[in-house]
Amino acid sequence: MTDLATDLISTEMRLGAHNYKPLNVVLNRGEGIWVWDVDGNRYMDGLSAYSAVNQGHCHPKIIAAMVEQAGKLTLTSRAFHNDQLALFYEEIAGLTGSHKVLPMNSGAEAVESAVKAVRKWGYEVKGVPDGQAEIIVCRNNFHGRTLGIVGFSTDPVARSGFGPFAPGFRVVPFGDIAAFEAAITENTVGFLAEPIQGEAGVIIPPEGYFARVRELCTENNVTLILDEIQTGLGRTGKLLAEEHEGVEADVTLVGKALAGGFYPVSAVLSNTEVLGVLKPGEHGSTFGGNPLGCAVARAAMKVLVEEGMVENSAEQGAYFKAGLEDIRANAVKEIRGRGLMIAVELDPAAGGARRYCEALRDKGILCKDTHEHSIRIAPPLVIGRDDVDWALERFDTVLTSLDG
Ligand SMILES: *Cc1c(COP(=O)(O)O)cnc(C)c1O
Repeated sequence: MTDLATDLISTEMRLGAHNYKPLNVVLNRGEGIWVWDVDGNRYMDGLSAYSAVNQGHCHPKIIAAMVEQAGKLTLTSRAFHNDQLALFYEEIAGLTGSHKVLPMNSGAEAVESAVKAVRKWGYEVKGVPDGQAEIIVCRNNFHGRTLGIVGFSTDPVARSGFGPFAPGFRVVPFGDIAAFEAAITENTVGFLAEPIQGEAGVIIPPEGYFARVRELCTENNVTLILDEIQTGLGRTGKLLAEEHEGVEADVTLVGKALAGGFYPVSAVLSNTEVLGVLKPGEHGSTFGGNPLGCAVARAAMKVLVEEGMVENSAEQGAYFKAGLEDIRANAVKEIRGRGLMIAVELDPAAGGARRYCEALRDKGILCKDTHEHSIRIAPPLVIGRDDVDWALERFDTVLTSLDG
């Protein structure tokens, strides 16, 4: 590393809160699946900013939309209408088959907003006694970092020292249908889950789990809230991961790639009934639904569909996963994934995924260790077959050479 990179890292360490532990690489440029560091080294982006950059870095059509809108109008607040919001609503509702849209900014805000709307639906529509609403969530969930959300996390690192937390949540094991059924009471208003648990290490539920969850939700008048902030918008090889399960959520949360990594835009999508309970003044966000965010999101959704990124995710993801399965390394315990959301689970004896990610970085691939023993692989959805071959060669070298 040059002095510039070292200096920038030490300034970050000195002035910033240490709530992340990044790999030692300082990036200053990106294009498609590639990023460059300040020393001019090129890397394949194997994380895509936790799937916020599905469309690839600096997609020219998204840049054009952003620059054009930035020169016209950026923010009005929702006190007035703007000419981008209606078009954003039409396009996202059409794309996802939703009837109502609530635009927010970060993923965590979308989750918080859904919890609020579903609770209110519980009181006003389902008839749950005031203050008694319960939402069922899953063990090892990841839904964001706000107080409301970490209060129902089961990760001690995410919650320790941040209480007291709000009541109203019940935790069940992910993928356990009997436990879910047993947790339902007459006060249950929602079930919040990730279709595939991302931060937990790409955990895919048993076949048929969500189909049965859907039935139980319908029978018990419980809203099914699927957090597709990471799995959505093509990451798993379908537009929404719920399609793999053949189910439709009542409330779907999207964020991250919704604006292609250019701008924070998230949304709660639902049928008319749930978001229909919100009345003026009951919820809001200064930046939510702003014209710049809407214009960027519109372009990001458009290129995702028009350029076949969802189909490419399915195709290259299957090829990538099969290639990883062919690598004969003792340290590899399991390869999991759907589309371009893949995890290589290492044997605990391999000494943790971090040193593998450092070795991959030295070979030109930036990946993230997840939960100590998994390497997560989630490149932008514009990756080509040659790029996957290039990556597989490097994975082969790193996985086999660290076997030692
Ligand atoms: C990233 C993520 C969130 C939170 O999104 P932020 O924009 O970081 O607040 C919520 N749910 C899931 C599944 C995520 O992956």
